Amino acid sequence: MHDLVIRNGLLVDGTGTPPREGDVAIDGERITAVGDGVGAGRRELDARGKVVAPGWVDIHTHYDGQVTWDPYVTPSSWHGVTTVVMGNCGVGFAPARPDRHQWLIGLMEGVEDIPGSALAEGIKWNWQSFPEYLDAVERLPRVLDVGAQVPHGAVRAYVMGERGARNEPATADDIAAMAAIVRDGVGAGALGFSSSRTLLHRAIDGECVPGTFAAADEMIGIGRVLGELGRGVLEVASDLMPEDPELSWMETLSRETGRPVTFACLQNDADPEQWRRLLAAADAAAARGGWLAPQIAARPTSMLMGLQSALHPFALHAGVHAVAHLPLAERVAHFRNPEVRAAILAEQIEAPNALFAYLLRSWHKLFALGDPPDYEPGPERSVGAIAAREGRSPESVAYDLMLENEGRSFLYFPFLNYSGGDFDAIHTMLEHPLAIVGLSDGGAHCGVICDASTPTYLLTHWVRDRRRGARLPIEQVVAHQTRATARLYGLDDRGVLAPGYLADVNVIDLDRLAIAAPEMIYDLPAQGRRLVQRARGYDATVKSGAVTYEHGEATGALPGRLVRGPQTAA
Ligand SMILES: [Zn+2]
Repeated sequence: MHDLVIRNGLLVDGTGTPPREGDVAIDGERITAVGDGVGAGRRELDARGKVVAPGWVDIHTHYDGQVTWDPYVTPSSWHGVTTVVMGNCGVGFAPARPDRHQWLIGLMEGVEDIPGSALAEGIKWNWQSFPEYLDAVERLPRVLDVGAQVPHGAVRAYVMGERGARNEPATADDIAAMAAIVRDGVGAGALGFSSSRTLLHRAIDGECVPGTFAAADEMIGIGRVLGELGRGVLEVASDLMPEDPELSWMETLSRETGRPVTFACLQNDADPEQWRRLLAAADAAAARGGWLAPQIAARPTSMLMGLQSALHPFALHAGVHAVAHLPLAERVAHFRNPEVRAAILAEQIEAPNALFAYLLRSWHKLFALGDPPDYEPGPERSVGAIAAREGRSPESVAYDLMLENEGRSFLYFPFLNYSGGDFDAIHTMLEHPLAIVGLSDGGAHCGVICDASTPTYLLTHWVRDRRRGARLPIEQVVAHQTRATARLYGLDDRGVLAPGYLADVNVIDLDRLAIAAPEMIYDLPAQGRRLVQRARGYDATVKSGAVTYEHGEATGALPGRLVRGPQTAA
């Protein structure tokens, strides 16, 4: 008698092989049999007509603070995610000298837009070193497994103090000291080392993340530790401008250490073909014995703009600022007043930065997101196109769209991965054998970006709903966010439905599967705000043999653990 049997499902097993009907038997925390008629279970889940797949492994999240207070690690766990990797992009909360707590919070708040007041109230700081942080994370039971990476920003400030925080060059001694900290962290179970090399990532005081300008000797000097230990991933968020020197040290490092380097690969409007060169560079590096894993997104990185979010085209208007403190319903009533509307639309403002200027001249790529949300709208649906058709100003169209649904509607501004106005570039990236799906940024960008629903979206859009181009077979999409992501991080105990693997399983009603419109909720510590999206259609999520969610409701089971280092199937 098995502990649990998932009966008669359509098995999409994570390996990329086509679906087949069958059962999954689970004993303890592992899968013990897969196939036809596996014998009875003390508990059985009827999965007839449902997709049965491994739990999702989301490798790009920023739950470093949240995991210390939230056992449910939402919104990711609502979306069938059973393993998250955090500590991406060079930011995190260890190592941490006591006098740097507020600074580390400001770094995370600036880079990842997580409310600093929430972090300050939520984090207890019962650690200083990275291994102590891992111990603290391990002590809290939670619904899913968590893997951590050692963040360059924290390490640099810890070792170099203000010199490090202010991005001064590292000496040989600095590099040796940073490498020692990374060695201790990875030795204690961190899954890698991460760094930010983009001008977009700035602390709350405007300073770039420590390490942004680190020279190749610093990156390679620290990254060598992964080779010595024979484990771990180097994750980089880089502008890749210029790209050749960046790709060069990444390839050198991966060839020398045998360890993968994963870097964000997204289409940008300034150079809309660069992603093709990045994929080609990964192929070329592989041919020379390197291992570059372009990390791609399943949909555009987008800003959601509206009266609930932190940014919209009128956010800087005096007439908007004056009532910013009012509850949403009162602001909506105020903005509907024709005189107020006319005054705000008449007010000209100076864009304070390049990003805002880009937004204000990009009406052709600003859309009503809608409910259910549409992330691949046609050009005829842009604010600019509506304005031209109706003989109105784009500003007035945007203004009125934001007031729909009692001010809860969002405008969708896909600022990366949408240069062509459709997902054909993303489709090509998803077909690339070395590309890894990530960049969901779970737990981060609480005010304006909301992509933690990516795992669900891969199925709803890429498998089922896409109309403006080719879809993808379900086995490919499932493999992308199970075995592929798990393998990159050495988690060979999960991501596949086969005997010996961890019993991390989703039972999915693919016909019903849906992601809801984004909403702003205020449930972080200190009533901090965050954009979230809920999911429908996950009949059950099983983590390490325990049913954690059933029909969208948490069961209370908290079987998740800290993952320390690479894992193997039993
Ligand atoms: Zn990130």
